[in-house]
Amino acid sequence: MSTDVVIVGGGVIGLSLAWQLAGQGRSVTVLDKQQTGQEASWAGAGILPPGHLPGARTSFDQLRALSVDMWKEFSEQLLSETGIDNGYRHCGGLTVTLGDDSCEPYRAEWTSEGVELADLDGEGLRDYEPKLTTKVEDGFRLPDLCQVRNPHHLQALAKACRQRGVDLQCDQPVEEIIQVDGNISSVKTRSRSLTADQFCFTAGAWTGQLLNAAGYSLPIVPVRGQIVLYRTEVPLIRHVIEVGKRYLVPREDGRLLVGSTEENAGYEKINTDLAIAELQRFAIQLIPSLKSAHVEKTWAGLRPMSETGSPFLGLLPGTENAYVAAGHFRAGLQTSPATALVMRQLMCGEQPSLDLKEFAINMTHVVEPTS
Ligand SMILES: Cc1cc2nc3c(=O)[nH]c(=O)nc-3n(C[C@H](O)[C@H](O)[C@H](O)COP(=O)(O)OP(=O)(O)OC[C@H]3O[C@@H](n4cnc5c(N)ncnc54)[C@H](O)[C@@H]3O)c2cc1C
Repeated sequence: MSTDVVIVGGGVIGLSLAWQLAGQGRSVTVLDKQQTGQEASWAGAGILPPGHLPGARTSFDQLRALSVDMWKEFSEQLLSETGIDNGYRHCGGLTVTLGDDSCEPYRAEWTSEGVELADLDGEGLRDYEPKLTTKVEDGFRLPDLCQVRNPHHLQALAKACRQRGVDLQCDQPVEEIIQVDGNISSVKTRSRSLTADQFCFTAGAWTGQLLNAAGYSLPIVPVRGQIVLYRTEVPLIRHVIEVGKRYLVPREDGRLLVGSTEENAGYEKINTDLAIAELQRFAIQLIPSLKSAHVEKTWAGLRPMSETGSPFLGLLPGTENAYVAAGHFRAGLQTSPATALVMRQLMCGEQPSLDLKEFAINMTHVVEPTS
């Protein structure tokens, strides 16, 4: 089988890129080891922080800020192409100080980027969220923080890809990467071999493992995050509330996500009693009325963390047709629209909208093949 582009990994990054490329008339096949959109992209909380492109200093901040500018229209386009509402909502966020977790560093970061925020004392915070504990005395509101419902977004993306002619092949783990004269000529799964002009590896936390056999040592490791999902009759809060790296994310239907942990536990995608109890303690401390709320579900996901903290976006060195877009760690949902845009531009020979130098893969990431 042959196609213009093979994308390996159908999470939010692979599917968003496939959608972009198919929109340019490219024939695209996405291979996934299972159903698409079942890993980190499904597990994430869907927080979409704000951004301000003119004030964004680092390349990563620019990737986030450019994505912020794209999310609304992207969601509307997915809705019109598929009829699926991905849950993109302009809900706003509160970042607060609780115990040892001060909101000050976050306040300084947003202010220096030029993102709109409003400082609030305890009373001001509770005017927005009356159920917030009286232990919180300091924080700020980010009016432009948004959210998306990951499973809905992934369903919309998969359907939109199919409608644009993308061939989504599920239960097809790529096991072998065939190189000819430095370039990649095909990838093999147990049952098929696919040739293509270009390849892009978007296998999240598995990308390093996958490329190792082809002679690339990409430092991307899994970092486990656990989530508790509460279900209440009516929504208790409206804003996403963040305390350091932990958060509450309310959905319109009364569901409320509590996250998350950062654990180096290899590929063990499980919940632990300790982490779940700690997340529940955190949630009840912040919103005491959650004490009587029903826990509907818990889950874990594996964030793809790169050595640099930023994703790898670009060509594999030594090749002219093999690309990587992986390692988005805690920010793969929020940065997916701009990631897909710049990768499409790169793969179509256009000038990318952002400078991708800081995301490049260099020769220090190239090792001898393990076999
Ligand atoms: C608990 C938690 C909360 C999070 N919250 C947020 C948040 O609020 N906002 C945010 O922006 N981000 C969040 N993230 C991070 C975000 O989910 C990730 O950065 C993002 O999903 C990475 O997307 P991906 O497509 O690279 O990887 P994945 O979604 O993991 O997709 C990789 C795909 O590759 C496939 N694959 C792997 N190996 C192979 C192979 N050999 N052959 C074929 N296919 C293969 C997998 O099956 C999978 O479908 C969170 C993550 C977690 C775990």
